[in-house]
Amino acid sequence: MSIFNDNLERLKEIQVLENISDADMKALLEPVQVNYKEMEIDGKKYPAWRIIYSRAIGPGKGGIRYHQDVSEDEVKSLAFWMALKNSLADIPYGGAKGGIKFNPKEASQKELEEISRTYIDNFYEYLGQDKDVPAPDVYTNGQIMSWMLDEFEKKVGHHEPGMITGKPIELGGIALRGDATAQGGYLVTKELVNKFLKGQTGIRVIVQGFGNAGLFMAEKLAQDGFKVIAVSDSKGGIYNKEGLDIKDLAKFKNEGHAVTEYKSGEVITNAQLLELDTDILVLAALENQITKDNASNIKAKYIVELANGPITYDADKILAEKKIIIVPDILANSGGVIVSYFEWAQNRTGQILDEEYLRDLLGKKMARNWGRVYDEFLAHGEKITLRQAAYLIAVKRILAAEKFRGRI
Ligand code: NAD
Repeated sequence: MSIFNDNLERLKEIQVLENISDADMKALLEPVQVNYKEMEIDGKKYPAWRIIYSRAIGPGKGGIRYHQDVSEDEVKSLAFWMALKNSLADIPYGGAKGGIKFNPKEASQKELEEISRTYIDNFYEYLGQDKDVPAPDVYTNGQIMSWMLDEFEKKVGHHEPGMITGKPIELGGIALRGDATAQGGYLVTKELVNKFLKGQTGIRVIVQGFGNAGLFMAEKLAQDGFKVIAVSDSKGGIYNKEGLDIKDLAKFKNEGHAVTEYKSGEVITNAQLLELDTDILVLAALENQITKDNASNIKAKYIVELANGPITYDADKILAEKKIIIVPDILANSGGVIVSYFEWAQNRTGQILDEEYLRDLLGKKMARNWGRVYDEFLAHGEKITLRQAAYLIAVKRILAAEKFRGRI
């Protein structure tokens, strides 16, 4: 199943809704630059990509993923979503993404360092604060960003902290970055509740994926009185209909356990978790989790996509028929890249901004972006999905930028 073909189907709908010409649409159907290298370390091969989807609004921007299932189709789709996400978030970036196909869980720290440095040796010419700016994604983190920055600076011979975001604070990172994606997701979930579930208490939530995005999201929701009844990681899920003690479970997970080893709950599979009865389902793992095979069994009334692309195009149609409201990835998980933008801006100006001010700014940006998407949804008489509303805004801005540049 091609993830990218799903994106083309979604774009076709936007073209019809907005009456966009085929000629203009061409600017969005292909990435502007696909860089691929087969890296080799000690006789082992590591297929690696860096793909820039769009440069209409600014330099490339998007994370680097380490996973055994990374493919060109996936990286291209992730780069496409970054282009839309950055456009929707109103930040001065195009869209890009990178990835290396290998299983990081089987690599030692030394091997991870070598793989990360080799990636930069292969791609550094295409990277830079004004060219393309990577960040962490699945199974990459601040340590990996540090090795990459160090290798890049060795190659180019000068300091350039703005070439990468998600760095530790000591290297020009920003305190907010750690939980920024979850914070943004939490804020739009509050907006969603305010519009659709106002006054309801004890709202039940399920979170698939208990990593950077999902764990912080579960913590924030639990702290705010939401009843988190199930969470999962790659090994499976844990369910307690009375609500899980998320603080305790997070501590347990951070000690190196799988959530399925946690005692106070029933162990379930990831497939079962998705189909449980709940008010809100937060998807915070990987792509293609809800497909045409399980969409009709979904009982959640609302879905928040913290992961990129967790619902396929076919599944979207089934969920829409079931009147399930989905807060789309390009809105729900944009807190991470918005805070990356703050980090990049600080690195470029040398100015250090107050953390409270930035947290407030993130809140304002998320509320504004939610408001724009919701208004577009209302302007179409609620006959389009929130995803279509978000895509419409994002696509229009990219095409306007392309027009001003005289490219279309
Ligand atoms: P992560 O590596 O920190 O965590 C991923 C989590 O998902 C882990 O708990 C892992 O065990 C779990 N997982 C993996 N496969 C699973 C499966 N089949 N079923 C259930 N759980 C599974 O990654 P992350 O940074 O939290 O990213 C998660 C998603 O959020 C990705 O789609 C990523 O692109 C997206 N995202 C993350 C950020 C960010 O800032 N971290 C920003 C935007 C989008």
